[in-house]
Amino acid sequence: MTLNLKTRLTFSYMLIALISVLLISLLMNGFVEKYFREYVQQNQEQKNEEVVTAITTRYQKNDAWDIAAIELIGVRALEGGMIIKVYDHNNQIVWDATTHNNGMCQRIIENMAKTMNRRYPNVSGSYAEVPYPLYHEFDRIGEVKIGQYGPFYMNEFDLAFIDTLNNIMLGVGVFSLLLAFVIGGIMAKRLSRPISRVTNTAQTIATGHLSDRIDSHSNIREIGLLTTTINNLAETLEKQEQFRKRFTHDIAHEFRTPLSTLLSHLDAMIDGVWKPDKRRLQSCQEETLRILKMVADLDKLNRYEDENLALSRETFDISLLLKRLITNFDGEVRKKNIHVKFNNYPQMIYADQDKISQVFVNLLSNAIKYSKKGGTLEITLSETETDVHIDILDNGIGIAENDLPHIFERLYRTDESRNRKTGGAGIGLTIAKTIVDAHRGNIFVKSQPHVGSTFTVVLPKNML
Ligand code: ADP
Repeated sequence: MTLNLKTRLTFSYMLIALISVLLISLLMNGFVEKYFREYVQQNQEQKNEEVVTAITTRYQKNDAWDIAAIELIGVRALEGGMIIKVYDHNNQIVWDATTHNNGMCQRIIENMAKTMNRRYPNVSGSYAEVPYPLYHEFDRIGEVKIGQYGPFYMNEFDLAFIDTLNNIMLGVGVFSLLLAFVIGGIMAKRLSRPISRVTNTAQTIATGHLSDRIDSHSNIREIGLLTTTINNLAETLEKQEQFRKRFTHDIAHEFRTPLSTLLSHLDAMIDGVWKPDKRRLQSCQEETLRILKMVADLDKLNRYEDENLALSRETFDISLLLKRLITNFDGEVRKKNIHVKFNNYPQMIYADQDKISQVFVNLLSNAIKYSKKGGTLEITLSETETDVHIDILDNGIGIAENDLPHIFERLYRTDESRNRKTGGAGIGLTIAKTIVDAHRGNIFVKSQPHVGSTFTVVLPKNML
């Protein structure tokens, strides 16, 4: 059954209060009854002793008793619920409460039986007489029998005391339940209100209102955390949404230029403005290749960005790989008359050779692409205890400071590179970063416009 938090919490509080009060009441009741019964019994015993002592003092030598005084004691005892009978040492009656006032004695006995039966129907009590011997200077002078309701007797005052205690417990119980209801309600409200707020906002976000945020602060840590998490989630979703829009826009923009050029070339040839000679057709071919390269790059990026990008790692010498790649760029290097330096030494790494090779193809091709004629390309291999560093330095056009934070983003190109029509689509560095990240490495750049750039790739050594 799904109950809301408020009801559930309130009920829980009330249940706890109820169980506690019941337990305490039961225990209290048991203890109070037990000790009070003992107290009543002791008290009775003490009263009996007092009666015995009082009667003993009324003995006047040679079997003579102060009957009047004994009667006074007997009547007072009767009023206290004790029926006494005094005997001398010959077992002859000296004074007997039942003879003095039999009616009253009967009434007292009946009354006591009635009171006790009403309250303790399970205790089979009855009237009993307990004999106490009387001594005077070590001589036995007689006996007194004290008749009472046993095994214990509680008078109206005693019972009233127990009733009062029980009533107090009942009052405390009812009060605790009420308090539990109120506090449970307040606590539940304090808990459920921010949760409802979070849920409502999460629902609004789910329906597409990605700019919505939860602006309430809760002093309950978990709810605070939930709020922050939902807000962060919304932030991420919003960013992704913005990114998706920008990406679509950028892609359209990237394709529009080569496709427009191609179309205008073809139009001109169809309209007879241009002759479809080899040079024109080659230009069309170049534009088509450019578009194809862009599609291939996007496809590659898509593959590399797959979260489950599987790396097939092997141990290989990165310096050999770099040397081979540099040789592959020989044609362009010679064309631009670039001076290449490489501190070649054997350096083993454990990585995905194909993918790492893609990283350096992109970095080297950029370095050459953005180098001036007669520039320098310097590849430096170094290592620390944990990592291998590869620096690729060029003294080409450099990158403006405000472009630096963005150049690893997809389709990002600096104005400088756009103006030069260098041909890239701004995907090469994104691919490089994706691959390096998958290797738990790092890639960063230092650059200054017109001075040059240094791209550094850091690959951890123990990637087992
Ligand atoms: P592209 O294919 O356009 O070169 P990249 O993702 O490889 O795309 O690079 C993104 C942008 O970063 C480039 O368009 C260029 O503006 C800038 N860039 C990259 N490498 C260099 C470099 N070595 N020197 C100057 N600018 C660079």
